[in-house]
Amino acid sequence: MLFPFEPSGTSPPVIAYPVSRLRGEHRVRIKRWAAVWSLPGLEDRVSVTFSRHFRSSLGRCAPSSGEIRLAAFLQDGPRELLIEALCHEAAHAAVHELHGHGPKPHGAEWRVLMQAAGYQPRARVPAALLEDLAPSSKRTRPTWLHRCPVCRASRIARRAVHRWRCAACVKSGLNGLLLIERVPANPGTQR
Ligand SMILES: [Zn+2]
Ligand SMILES: [Zn+2]
Repeated sequence: MLFPFEPSGTSPPVIAYPVSRLRGEHRVRIKRWAAVWSLPGLEDRVSVTFSRHFRSSLGRCAPSSGEIRLAAFLQDGPRELLIEALCHEAAHAAVHELHGHGPKPHGAEWRVLMQAAGYQPRARVPAALLEDLAPSSKRTRPTWLHRCPVCRASRIARRAVHRWRCAACVKSGLNGLLLIERVPANPGTQR
């Protein structure tokens, strides 16, 4: 199974660029690629948000507004994959600035930019890279064990809930803080 990056074909018309929400490493990276792509200030014309709605793709870009959305699950995976996905989507915005609406999403113009940024241009990544990441099915979805280190009570949940406390321990005057660890789903299955 492959996980395509999908460019958005139906972006609403936007006159002004959105205020950049870029901070930290994302901004630094895009600024560096922008220099290579001869698009100074690109880092101020794109925004990056993370979405939990992605299941089968890593990200999307609305090239004309510079809005990049990345799959939230990328934040739990290898750093390099997140940065590549960021570059992939930033390159879509860059192609739009350089060439307008003409080029195909993963056409020559886009590939040149990815290569200039140091990547082998690829529109898809192997499933193996994402197997543990994408919440594409309940089967592959990890669960989270919430464990009380004092009384050893435990509770399993589909997501880590940091505000939960151990009720019994809170009742006896302790803070009830829980240890949270990720439990791979299907421990008996080979991947
Ligand atoms: Zn793409
Ligand atoms: Zn407890």
